[in-house]
Amino acid sequence: MDNNHNDNSINDFDYRLICEYFSSVDRQGPGSDEATLRALSFIPGLTAASHVADLGCGAGSSALLLARTLGCRVTALDLFPDFLDRLRTRADALGLSPRLTTVEASMDSLPFADDAFDAIWSEGAIYNVGFARGLRLWRRHIRPGGFLAVTDATWLTASRPAAIADFWNDAYLQIGTMASNLQALVDAGYTPVAAFVLPDSCWRDNFYLPQRKVQQAFLDRHPGNATAAGLVDCQRREADMYEAYHSYYGYVFYIARKC
Ligand code: SAH
Repeated sequence: MDNNHNDNSINDFDYRLICEYFSSVDRQGPGSDEATLRALSFIPGLTAASHVADLGCGAGSSALLLARTLGCRVTALDLFPDFLDRLRTRADALGLSPRLTTVEASMDSLPFADDAFDAIWSEGAIYNVGFARGLRLWRRHIRPGGFLAVTDATWLTASRPAAIADFWNDAYLQIGTMASNLQALVDAGYTPVAAFVLPDSCWRDNFYLPQRKVQQAFLDRHPGNATAAGLVDCQRREADMYEAYHSYYGYVFYIARKC
């Protein structure tokens, strides 16, 4: 889910429609269970007694996987209740509700105690507060020696065509390179442990394809609604940009230890 506030195709930015659209797919950003598990493999010491937060959890694909894999408590936070409703329904179906706490709040003002978590997880969401800012804001809530695992859109090459640079500058001003993001981790008081680029399938198969399957039904539910049409146009354009320019950018999983 990208933050295309500046895209003229969405004049009236309607969060209700955006939530409805994205609630009908399992993932609101690129990712996969395999990538979540790979990130987890770099983090030693998490057990059923651990407590993990998933910030900007959306409909909760990573929160559910973490709760299932680790058997631990997971606190999943998102700004939008529609996503949290969807997550609770999914958790009920999987028998994971006893381990899951949902919190409706903003990630820039976390309602948690210092040192509350053994790890903070966040896939495809830190852009909402900015990478470097999020690292600093969240650090106090990780216990000493605990871990952070986040994905963020990242430039993968030293230079890039203007068309894709302009697109991302409109969508997300603070997109960094892997080097600048690793430096931001160090500057914010973390030791980077691993970083890896998510494979294309995380975007194509798990993010854009599920959207393509629900777009027509969404448009049919909102006939003549320019905002709904604009939202679908915007997501289709983003998918087209990915097809054309994916060698220049991707999501990178950053795993780091609080030092
Ligand atoms: N982690 C999920 C969702 C990623 S999309 C996944 O990978 O599928 C980004 C999420 O951030 C959305 O669910 C959106 O509702 C949430 N979000 C946006 N701004 C937020 C804020 N200020 N605080 C908390 N969540 C926010």
